[in-house]
Amino acid sequence: MDFEKLADLLFPEIDKTPDYYEKLYPARNLPEGARVTRFAPSPTGYLHIGGLFGALVDVLTAKVSGGISYLRIEDTDKKREIEDGVSGITNGLKAFGVEFDEGVTGFGTETGNYGPYTQSQRVEIYRTVAKSLVKQGLAYPCFCTSEELDSIREEQEAGGADIRGYFGKWAKCRSLSYEEIEKNIAGGKSWVLRFCSDGSEDKRIAFEDMIRGKIEMPENIIDEVLLKSDGIPTYHFAHCCDDHFMGTTHVIRGEEWISSVPKHIALFRACGYRVPKYAHTPQVLKLDDETGDKRKLSKRKDPEAAVSYFVEEGFPKESLIEYLLTIISSGFEDWRRANPGVPAMDYPFNLKKMSSSGCLFDLVKLTDVSKNVISLMKADKVYACVAQWAQSYNKDFYAVLCADPARSAAILNIDRENPKPRKDIAKWSEVKDYISYFFPEYYESDFTLPENINPADAAAIAEKYAGVFDLNDDKDTWFSRIKDLCAPLGFTPNVKEYKADPSAFKGHVGDVSTVIRIALTSRKNTPDLYSIMSILGTDEIKARLACAAACWAKG
Ligand code: GLU
Repeated sequence: MDFEKLADLLFPEIDKTPDYYEKLYPARNLPEGARVTRFAPSPTGYLHIGGLFGALVDVLTAKVSGGISYLRIEDTDKKREIEDGVSGITNGLKAFGVEFDEGVTGFGTETGNYGPYTQSQRVEIYRTVAKSLVKQGLAYPCFCTSEELDSIREEQEAGGADIRGYFGKWAKCRSLSYEEIEKNIAGGKSWVLRFCSDGSEDKRIAFEDMIRGKIEMPENIIDEVLLKSDGIPTYHFAHCCDDHFMGTTHVIRGEEWISSVPKHIALFRACGYRVPKYAHTPQVLKLDDETGDKRKLSKRKDPEAAVSYFVEEGFPKESLIEYLLTIISSGFEDWRRANPGVPAMDYPFNLKKMSSSGCLFDLVKLTDVSKNVISLMKADKVYACVAQWAQSYNKDFYAVLCADPARSAAILNIDRENPKPRKDIAKWSEVKDYISYFFPEYYESDFTLPENINPADAAAIAEKYAGVFDLNDDKDTWFSRIKDLCAPLGFTPNVKEYKADPSAFKGHVGDVSTVIRIALTSRKNTPDLYSIMSILGTDEIKARLACAAACWAKG
């Protein structure tokens, strides 16, 4: 067979050789040991939490080694295509601060010298490489119809074959002559381009997975499809060309790809490319509420499978990243303890410290992590984040919150910016309810008392307190005024004294404070009351105390 002639017959429009692209995409000039990684999703418009997890691993692996990470869009599967399947992914990544050095940045935008970073724009490259494989006798056209392929499958199934697919005696197009091929093409028969595998059934192939260690599998013997009948490459072929020309050193991807590695190694070798290092990441799992078993996070059943869920709920990016790192890397929590306050993205990530079994994603744990993360933020930042979230997801609250930014920031500063900050807020969508009693637009009075306090006593406390509080007091004086209210009303300022003989008193200073708290906020639990009062101001305090007293006096 004259392979040169065959290549020209199959690819008449291709006038370049792979050499052209070798020059166009020269080896990257990076320091020794620098890793080049990529995140390569299909443009489904949807970023799964497992995708963000993988992207984070890509970015950190490159970052700690002084390398490059990039985002490539793998859109060779036209069946899965939607109008703009990219923004949903890039927005999700941006929202959580997972940013690549190169590649696709949004719908129709990209940056970097190794592009285009969208596979559908690289068809000429794939076809050039494919043509060169044909020239070397390493690929051939296959004219089998889907009926013929079905009957091969049926025959293989009936015969109980271990290996199924297009290979060996079934690969009949492998031995077509030039004349037959020419005739088929002239007759308008459609064809795919197949890889001419030289694998052998009894040989095994071993590779070192950075996360899982040595993996051994049978060699690939299948004549895989490289180009589909529309001339578009399969994922297998496209990613091999791209990872080569884009200089990827480490292919980090989901564990579902492990079984394809022999095929991929064969392809890299046939093309004359250096085989990249592999790291197959574990799946992100959850405990099923009903069965209690671990299972994959499902797009259909679990709202938290979508990264957009965390944006809508208003989880800060720092919280989600912090939590993902705790489940991604066994060393993260120790590092965090030793390095409080350091940005999570500075973590010296190591692929080898990743667990190879599934990572359990637990919303309750994320909530705890997030409360901690938010408690350490400064009030101005909390204010800015809440405002930004509300602008998109709660416009009404946005207007209320931003009417007086300084006051809102002061509200959010209560019990914050101190050595033991309060850990109450896990996500921005909770903030409106958390602080609603400060705003007349939202405040609804509810003077329900705990059972141990009777309304007449509460009314007396509210009335008396209205006459003595003074916003100019320092905190000690403020509290001593509350203590001073106790004895004349039958309470004791001394909790120990109360506990020694509860029947001697109506209650203690804690109960008196609770009454004042309820009168002022309609809540039994709030952050520091002294700070709350200084923000409410004298007139509002008086009005609320009077209102509560009147309500309790009615009984
Ligand atoms: N496009 C493939 C996917 O979405 C990427 C696999 C890889 O990273 O190589 O799963």
